Amino acid sequence: MTSSLLLGLIGDGISASRTPRMHENEGAAHSIPTIYRTIDIAEPRLAGVGLEELLSAAIRLGFDGLNITHPFKQQVIDLLDAVDPVAARIGSVNTVVIDAAGKTTGHNTDVTGFAAGFRAGLDGAAAEAVVQIGAGGAGRAVGFALAELGVGELIIADTDVDRAAGLAADIGTVTDSQVRARAIGLDELEAAAASANGIVNATPMGMKAYPGTPVDTSVFDADTWVADVVYFPLETQLLAEARAKGCRTLDGSGMAVNQAIDAFELFSGQKADPQRMRDTFLSFGT
Ligand code: NAD
Repeated sequence: MTSSLLLGLIGDGISASRTPRMHENEGAAHSIPTIYRTIDIAEPRLAGVGLEELLSAAIRLGFDGLNITHPFKQQVIDLLDAVDPVAARIGSVNTVVIDAAGKTTGHNTDVTGFAAGFRAGLDGAAAEAVVQIGAGGAGRAVGFALAELGVGELIIADTDVDRAAGLAADIGTVTDSQVRARAIGLDELEAAAASANGIVNATPMGMKAYPGTPVDTSVFDADTWVADVVYFPLETQLLAEARAKGCRTLDGSGMAVNQAIDAFELFSGQKADPQRMRDTFLSFGT
């Protein structure tokens, strides 16, 4: 059994991340002393230091695992010894397990985390047709998770039409899913949303820095379910307006907490307690 854990998060502007506290609290609850450091390239002491150097330093210093976030989730893949099939398929890694010999294996717990959050918060939701807005880093994980969840038709919109089309094409190569994925222009968004069972926001719209909603919510009816990946704040304008119409909603905490739950299991070999992880996440406020 793991006797202690040394973990870290590599990314840009991550000083407010809730992930370190979730892992340290969960480790302590399992009697595994756990230290989790943010390795933030926005800090002056890391100016000019690249991902390869940071990863190799972490391996040499005996780190047991890393989370990887913006802007490195794609770039890290080429630096790893092995990549699990889900992460390889979406071309994005957010969790790296480092074994005692220093061998690195990449995983993507954003995909499994979104899927687990969806199953817990929107269990039984109809999914013949789902509109996803946003095909960036989070959107790629969401799209592949929706395919795995059994969505029939996945309609993807992004201000960058090529990005939406690229994601739809990549999802279309998943042979063990029945999903029909296609991209639409933003001018078609409201019409698609009006006839879909559910809507997922995977854009930054709704964050304090990007106020507003990515879609006109007047087209929703009470049967439409609405999920948001934004978690600063948890109550986005999109979710507030949807709830006011009687829609079932899922906020961004489901994905954020479940990606950490799955990563903790990969790092420690132990099951994390979902409620304790969630309580730690929410202890930062909403
Ligand atoms: P990103 O920049 O990689 O991608 C955002 C995408 O949204 C881009 O493709 C952009 O063109 C598109 N977009 C922006 N505004 C749009 C609009 N109005 N209409 C249509 N498309 C639009 O960003 P990201 O890393 O994917 O992050 C997106 C959001 O997801 C952020 O708020 C981030 O905090 C959140 N996020 C949440 C979790 C979680 O665990 N809940 C995990 C990762 C990211």
